[in-house]
Amino acid sequence: MASHIVGYPRIGPKRELKFALESFWDGKTSAKELQDVASDLRLSIWKQMADAGIKYIPSNTFSYYDQVLDTTAMLGAVPSRYGWSGGGEIGLDIYFSMARGNASVPAMEMTKWFDTNYHYIVPELGPDVEFSYASHKAVQEYKEAKALGVDTVPVLVGPVSYLLLSKPAKGVGKLFSLLSLIDKILPVYKEVVAELKAAGASWIQFDEPTLVMDLDSKKLCAFTHAYKELELSVSGLNVLIETYFADIPIEAYKTVTALKGVTAIGFDLVRGSKTLDLIRNGFPSGKYLFAGVVDGRNIWANDLDASLSTLQALEGTVGKDKLVVSTSCSLLHTAVDLVNETKLDKELKSWLAFAAQKLLEVNALAKTLSGLKDEAFFSANAAALASRRSSPRVINEPVQKAAAAVKSSDHRRATNVSSRLESQQRKLNLPVLPTTTIGSFPQTPELRKVRREYKANIISEEEYVKAIKKEIEEVVKLQEELDIDVLVHGEPERNDMVEYFGEQLSGFAFTKNGWVQSYGSRCVKPPIIYGDVGRPKAMTVFWSMLAQSMTKRPMKGMLTGPVTILNWSFVRDDQPRSETCYQIALAIKNEVQDLEKAGINIIQIDEAALREGLPLRKSEQAFYLDWAVQSFRITNCEVQDTTQIHTHMCYSNFNDIIHSIIDMDADVITIENSRSDEKLLSVFREGVKYGAGIGPGVYDIHSPRIPSSLEICDRIKKMVSVLETNVLWINPDCGLKTRKYSEVKPALTNMVGAAKITRMLL
Ligand code: GLN
Ligand code: ZN
Repeated sequence: MASHIVGYPRIGPKRELKFALESFWDGKTSAKELQDVASDLRLSIWKQMADAGIKYIPSNTFSYYDQVLDTTAMLGAVPSRYGWSGGGEIGLDIYFSMARGNASVPAMEMTKWFDTNYHYIVPELGPDVEFSYASHKAVQEYKEAKALGVDTVPVLVGPVSYLLLSKPAKGVGKLFSLLSLIDKILPVYKEVVAELKAAGASWIQFDEPTLVMDLDSKKLCAFTHAYKELELSVSGLNVLIETYFADIPIEAYKTVTALKGVTAIGFDLVRGSKTLDLIRNGFPSGKYLFAGVVDGRNIWANDLDASLSTLQALEGTVGKDKLVVSTSCSLLHTAVDLVNETKLDKELKSWLAFAAQKLLEVNALAKTLSGLKDEAFFSANAAALASRRSSPRVINEPVQKAAAAVKSSDHRRATNVSSRLESQQRKLNLPVLPTTTIGSFPQTPELRKVRREYKANIISEEEYVKAIKKEIEEVVKLQEELDIDVLVHGEPERNDMVEYFGEQLSGFAFTKNGWVQSYGSRCVKPPIIYGDVGRPKAMTVFWSMLAQSMTKRPMKGMLTGPVTILNWSFVRDDQPRSETCYQIALAIKNEVQDLEKAGINIIQIDEAALREGLPLRKSEQAFYLDWAVQSFRITNCEVQDTTQIHTHMCYSNFNDIIHSIIDMDADVITIENSRSDEKLLSVFREGVKYGAGIGPGVYDIHSPRIPSSLEICDRIKKMVSVLETNVLWINPDCGLKTRKYSEVKPALTNMVGAAKITRMLL
């Protein structure tokens, strides 16, 4: 019985690659130094897998930035603006220009990789692209491993998924189909395969995760066509097609199991319980099944006994020698190594498995199927799981009861939004086109230092409160000087909008090194939700009251919503996500109630990541939206009519979820807008019909550029032409945390000026 790993984190157990990249980009170190760090990382990963006993070890899963960009380089599909002359090998300079832009050309677009928090660089293709074999990275990595004595399975982004994940280049006609390029890219793939073969490879893995999406028959045919085309080139090789991230639809299952020249297929059996049924109902004889039973998307220890019985049942279907134990997807989406978590207690650690530990799990399962069960490993696992199931740290009965009770009714404010807004206006007395900001103000190095020193017990609580209070005073004073209508306290006490709440809620744990790559050198460190979520005490009331006491203007209370807290954490797998979300919602509800009692009349509940959690398959989306929106409503369904609830969402494709956004029933919705004026118009129009206040961001906060008053006026004018003025709010796109005061002051001055000019013209 063999074992296989789909892919492995490349950033390093202590983010070694991140630091090497950033120092190279800053010109502090040479390309050679960067390359050395990279090859050390690759070597240690291969060695780790070999030592763990993994049979099919992947190569070419390393990347200096992104595996899709690597494929673009392999195919020589460099957009012309990067000035690549063509021919020969693409160097690091062109590669990083595509990834990050350079002095004269902006970067290529980046977008989320399926429903993960990883972002890939979107290929831009048109009918005239000249493809050529321009990066030999896959072959080089294969050879590099081989020289170390490790025979690997080279991994390539499959040709059809590559095209389906691309976008048409600017100016390309509407009739152009990306899939029409398939016959142009296959010759390059053939060259790569031939070289890999010549170098001694006996397996090759094509990642075709788009197979789990809702694909029409034309797209499915592209797979059939592509692999038939490749059949001759791959003959003599074992070809593995990897699919992951969801259940595979039956049509796609039929397609992939019938592909020519393909000897093995990998499925995500963690998210794919229905896929298991498909396999049971028929799997082509003679082909290998790579069974992804170890979760690549989470940090929990595998239930080895449960996996074992799944695998044993599969053995009956596909045959003992054709079953390979694998991960559900690349381990890129989980944390790297638990060994570096010196602060987590022993019990909690025993419940977890990061990438390095998952290697051992995969191997232990494979060995068991070969009759070599490591009894000690299995019983330690069973004991850890049992302790997790019954631990008083996990179970909080009052929370469970409250969350169960929540499901029996619909949670909605009693009055409709228009009359609520009227009651609120009587109390708040705001001008038309009220101005506000999204919450955070610049986080200066001094501010970060204060928080750091408080955390490390270097300064006392008293000193800390004094420093934060001073910061809030300045932010309030600034906003009054700028003449903003609805103020914020600036969030100086928060390092991160999820971490801040997680640290105060029960059921959360934090790692020291549990980093997961988000894009390029950027990583996030999601909190771990391991238990029932409760709110032992108020989290923001102290600061909000303090801030409100400094001004007569309304001060917004500022909370992160339950869905965002959920989507930006590693979520427990022993109950449905919806259950955990309801628990968080109840905790946030308590906070909302306390803020209201404390005299805060406007409360913003950010749902920056609501769209992000949308399942890949259409059939599952309605259910998600239902409990996600319900969770948001739970947080504020009991406030008085006069309390105004805002929500904020970062940029995402909202068009398909407009009705759910409206169903959140917030009084005011602020949305990041400046990158997509047209696309969002329909959202706003729907919003108008519904009657809520709407604040489409009037300027981009991601750039240091200061928008002129005239430019903002123009934007507002456009919005006024679509929306009624009485629902429109004037605000930036998002929080100002990453900006400098030297940018924020003039930008907000111009924003308020633009609002005032527009008011006069109305
Ligand atoms: N209130 C948060 C802030 O201003 C919102 C951030 C976000 O939407 N990502 O920082
Ligand atoms: Zn935002």
